[in-house]
Amino acid sequence: MKSQGVRGDSEGKKGKTDSPAEKKNSLQGTDKTPQDPFGDFFDDYANKLQHNPLLNDRQKQKIEVVNKTRNSGFYTFQQAFDAKSGALITLNGTEYKLLSSYDYLGLIGHKEIEKSAVEAINKFGTGSGGVRLLTGTNKLHLELENDLAHFTGTEAAVTYSSGYHANLAVLSSLMDSKDLALIDSKIHQSTLDACKLAGLPHRRFEHNNPNSLEDLLKQHHSGGRVLIISEGMFSMDGDICKLKELVALKKKYGAFLMIDEAHSLGVLGENGKGVASHFNISPHEIDIITGSLSKAIPASGGYVAGSRELIIFLQHGSSPFIFSAALGPAATATATMALKVFQTEPERRKKLWANTQFFVSELQKSGFDTGLSSTPIIPVILGSDEAALSFSRKLFDRGVLATPVIFPAVPKQQSRLRLCITASQEKPFLQEVLDIFRQLR
Ligand code: PMP
Repeated sequence: MKSQGVRGDSEGKKGKTDSPAEKKNSLQGTDKTPQDPFGDFFDDYANKLQHNPLLNDRQKQKIEVVNKTRNSGFYTFQQAFDAKSGALITLNGTEYKLLSSYDYLGLIGHKEIEKSAVEAINKFGTGSGGVRLLTGTNKLHLELENDLAHFTGTEAAVTYSSGYHANLAVLSSLMDSKDLALIDSKIHQSTLDACKLAGLPHRRFEHNNPNSLEDLLKQHHSGGRVLIISEGMFSMDGDICKLKELVALKKKYGAFLMIDEAHSLGVLGENGKGVASHFNISPHEIDIITGSLSKAIPASGGYVAGSRELIIFLQHGSSPFIFSAALGPAATATATMALKVFQTEPERRKKLWANTQFFVSELQKSGFDTGLSSTPIIPVILGSDEAALSFSRKLFDRGVLATPVIFPAVPKQQSRLRLCITASQEKPFLQEVLDIFRQLR
C-alpha cells in the first residue's frame, strides 16, 4: 500500500524493454536492496580500467573504492527516486522514509508553486535560450532578483544556474591573487573550489571561533583586501555562524564579510529571511550574501545579494553570468513563488523547528552524538567511514534513506549520517524513525 503523499510511479516502466544494464539495475533495486547504478560495469571492470589510458592510477583507485563499497553492500548513494521527493519516497516501487532532504519547508509538490512553474513554461518555454548578459534574460529573472533583494533586505540580487556558480562567480571575479580570503574551516566545498580556481590566497580559521579568526586578521597582510567567509547555517554540522562577532571583527580590521546562506534561506530569521534577521542584525552589515535556490526553495539555481554596485559589477565581470546559460523559466518562477510562500505559510517554518527540537532531543536522549547541531541539519556522528556506511545500510534495510557523509567531505573519524528535518515529516513518522535508530544502536 502506498502512503499518502507518495506519488510513486513504478508502474510507468511496465511494458518497456530494458537494456541489460537497466534490467540488472531494476532487479537489484527491489526488496530493500539498494539500487546498483552501475549495471554490469563491475563484472569486468578490472579489464576496462587496465585498458583505459585516460584515467591515472589515483583516479582508478577511486573506482576501486566504489567497488569495495558496493561489495560490502554499503553503496546507498545515487538511489534514483521513482517520483517526487518528500518525506516518503519510492525506489523501484518500494517505499522509504527520506531523512536527508534539503526540502526544509516541504515545498516540493506545493500546488501553487508547481502551477507557477507550469505557467512559466507555457509562456517562456523550457529554456532561456542564452546567457544572461546576451539573450538569456527574461522578465522572470528580473522579478525574482527584485524579490530576492527585497526579501533579503539588500539593494540588489543576481541569479546564477547554481549556488556553486554563485560562490564561484563572486570569488573569481571580485578577488585576485593580491587579496586574502579567511574562511571558516568547515566551509562548503564550493567556496574552497572557488578560492582555488580564482587563485585567491586563503587561510582557514577554526570553526566558528572568532579568536582564531582574529589571530589571522592580526597577522600582517600586505596589499589587497581581506574577505572573511562563513555560512549562515553550516551544511555538515548544522550550527549557525557567529554573525555578531564576524561583523565586529570585519569592522575592527577593515575587512569584508561574505556569508553563504544556502541552507539558512527560508529556515533562519523572520519568515526565513536568513541569518542577519535571525540575529537581528542589518543585512547591510554583510557585504556579500550568496545562496542556493535548491534547498528551502524547491528549484535549482543560486544567487548573490548585496549592494547595487556589487551586482552591476557581477553582471559584467563574472564569467557564470556571461558564459553560462541563464536560469530556466520553471526554476525561476518556482523560486519567485516559493519566496511568497515563505511569507504566506509561516506555519511551515514553525513545524520545521518543532520537528527539529523534538527529533534532536530524542536522539540525544538515546545517546546519539549530534555534534554541534542547533538547526534542522542534524549530524549523527558515528566515527569511522565504515561505521557511517554500515549504519546507513542498516537503516536502508529498515526502509529509511539517510545519507552517510565520509572522509574527505568531513574530517577522519567524524564520519556521520547527515539528517535533515523537514516540515513535511509528521510526528508518527519521526517516532518510527527514532524507534529504528534506537533498535540499531
Ligand atoms: N553552499 C553550501 C553551503 C551548500 O551546502 C551547497 C550545496 N549543498 C552549495 C553552496 C551549492 O549550492 P547548489 O546545490 O545550488 O549548487
